[in-house]
Amino acid sequence: VAARPAPYLDGLNPAQRAAVQALEGPVLLLAGAGTGKTRALTTRIAHLLNLGLARPGQILAVTFTNKAAREMKNRIGRLLGEMVEGMPWLGTFHSISVKILRRHAELIGDGTLHLKPSFTILDTDDQIRLLKQLIQAENIDEKRWPARQLAHLIDSWKNRCLSPAKLPKGEERAFDGLGGRLYAAYQRRLLELNAVDFGDLLMHCVNLFQAHPDVLKTWQDRFRYILVDEYQDTNVAQYMWLRLLASGHRNICCVGDDDQSIYGWRGAEVGNILRFESDFPGAQVIRLEQNYRSTPHILAAASGLIAANKGRLGKTLWTEAEGGEPLRLIGHWDSEAEARWIGEEIEAFQGGHRHSIGRRSLNDIAILVRASHQMRAFEDRFMTIGLPYRVIGGPRFYERQEIRDAMAYFRLAVSPTDDLAFERIVNLPKRGLGDKAVQKIQAEARDRGLSLLEGAASAVATGVLGGKGAGALRQFTEAMGRWHADALDDRVNHVELAERILDESGYTAMWQNDKNPDAPGRLDNLKELVKALEEFDNLQGFLEHVALVMDNDKGEQAEEVSIMTLHAAKGLEYPIVFLPGWEDGLFPSQRSMDESGMKGLEEERRLAYVGITRGEELVTISFAGNRRMYGQWQSSLPSRFVDELPEDHVEVLTPPGLYGGGYGAAAQPFAPSGMHERAARADVYNSPGWKRMQERSAQRAQPVHRTPVVIDAEPAARFSVGDRVFHQKFGNGTIMGIAEDTLTIQFPTGFKTVKAGYVQPSGT
Ligand code: ATP
Ligand code: MG
Repeated sequence: VAARPAPYLDGLNPAQRAAVQALEGPVLLLAGAGTGKTRALTTRIAHLLNLGLARPGQILAVTFTNKAAREMKNRIGRLLGEMVEGMPWLGTFHSISVKILRRHAELIGDGTLHLKPSFTILDTDDQIRLLKQLIQAENIDEKRWPARQLAHLIDSWKNRCLSPAKLPKGEERAFDGLGGRLYAAYQRRLLELNAVDFGDLLMHCVNLFQAHPDVLKTWQDRFRYILVDEYQDTNVAQYMWLRLLASGHRNICCVGDDDQSIYGWRGAEVGNILRFESDFPGAQVIRLEQNYRSTPHILAAASGLIAANKGRLGKTLWTEAEGGEPLRLIGHWDSEAEARWIGEEIEAFQGGHRHSIGRRSLNDIAILVRASHQMRAFEDRFMTIGLPYRVIGGPRFYERQEIRDAMAYFRLAVSPTDDLAFERIVNLPKRGLGDKAVQKIQAEARDRGLSLLEGAASAVATGVLGGKGAGALRQFTEAMGRWHADALDDRVNHVELAERILDESGYTAMWQNDKNPDAPGRLDNLKELVKALEEFDNLQGFLEHVALVMDNDKGEQAEEVSIMTLHAAKGLEYPIVFLPGWEDGLFPSQRSMDESGMKGLEEERRLAYVGITRGEELVTISFAGNRRMYGQWQSSLPSRFVDELPEDHVEVLTPPGLYGGGYGAAAQPFAPSGMHERAARADVYNSPGWKRMQERSAQRAQPVHRTPVVIDAEPAARFSVGDRVFHQKFGNGTIMGIAEDTLTIQFPTGFKTVKAGYVQPSGT
């Protein structure tokens, strides 16, 4: 078969090549981070196509995220150039299940009701709202039995492919004895609404395959080759799904790493990877050991940390790469200081101030957080200093459909020449303006050199556009004219204007009249949007703010720092990685620490392993002594994982300018002061691991601090930690920390970080 040239094989090592060329029968590629598993998988697809063993539509490749699917598509395109027509079925379990279900929706039902191909997919909010209604209907005390808990229970059943009828004896009694009944009622309600939730996508597919062998057969015949990335994170439902599809030809290739199993909390079973060989007798197991991603220090630190986990398959990793810097470890006063420091570091990389790394694009830098609430400090800081960033997989409030629609109204009101905004909303709500009408408006605008809004007015006035649509369009353009005038008028309150625009345009009413279960949630979001406006002086300022926050169709060219959760970072790699918030209670999470047994803690440790192994050249871990959690300040201990890092591969940095120490002062991260003595954490800083790390760092020939940090001698130098000071707005307080030109002060109302210039010594 190998008659065709396969240049893409040249760059692979022998083990990878074996994985690419073992095309028939079950194959498990089991290997550590950065060993080229995903690359081998991608090359395998190219190879299948190149050899003509399958047409694109006969290959099914499952990735963990949509982003990963897109990247794989691009890569296959590059490997094969123009050669292939069409693309393999490439996507997540969920996205592929949706495609399958839409074709057989009618077969999903309970005897009386069934789905229709146009079914909607509920998000978590919708799901919770629906469950709330059901709970209320049963007169259950919602405080004791919250909808969220029921949602979680139902998800866990769905992850195991347990429909209400299949619940094992006793399990239906969960949730105050009513779990099973509520679950059945919920499924019934979903059918009535022609809707499914996320868990249904997999479960319905599996049930469909099991109940209709003919349907299963057509899909088995279609997918002649199946490939799965990140196999260690499949749950039972996904596992059943795969087994059913692969059970005919058994051409299934799974790649994974048991050390990177991080979705146990969502029902993933690392056991799936461990029992692959018994499920698919005769499976070839191929291991990869050479790492191509990270420096030896990064690799050693990650390997050292994960070694603390019991019950792993264990594996060796090595790299040909040499040199590189140890992991950097730094403590900060609080999360704001942490964000500030990371912002400065990133600017130093951009300016090429760090001699060992050289100038770096923002695209090379990622900040990986344990919990999404950590992102806010970075988003705020980066906005303040004008550092472009993107949030990957975050709560994308400003990207929701109704928010974008509303924003389009505001944009057009502020700038009537915004044609994109015009196109988005001209027929939203429906004004009887179809594609034809819009084309006429576009032609009119083009011919006369007008914006679309002006073109629309002109088309109505000249009679180019007639009929029912014309009247509605006239109303729309006239209203927009009024809103524009109001938007420019300082005397008009912009929050009220925004509400008025949404009401008068009929946009709010559109959702009020919508019977879909997600409509109330959209109305809530619109309210939230109007509320967010209050923080700004006018619509213009708000729109600029959102344009900054939003990943606004800037394409991939724009240079931006990436911020995401560790969970979202799986499979990705960045030259420079920051891992903030390594504190007990945050990372590892409080929940995993409270749990009896080591299961949760080991999963957190795997998450830490995933985090470190994302880095190619430089990884920086940080923690803060104080963090606002759930609206309250709490002091915190450095993560236990910090102590588990092999000290030979870690360098401890001193936080800049804290505690009056100034940059480069002897490592004395926390100076005790009054009630915050606890934050001093003498126990931690006296721990043997910490001391060893500090000593090693001190012994190293290189100076510890390479980033030039400008210490503004004026005015912060006037103060020392412990000084009593007075601030116009917050009153008297005590200085707890000094960093450059800002002071962290404990006021009676809480901690504040303020510019040193705004406070004066206090008499009290
Ligand atoms: P993870 O476990 O994090 O998902 P992985 O095993 O999937 O990692 P890849 O992302 O496929 O690893 O590869 C890691 C990096 O190494 C990529 O930049 C990839 O291009 C590179 N790489 C993989 N194999 C080779 C090779 N044979 N020669 C050179 N570079 C390689
Ligand atoms: Mg991978």
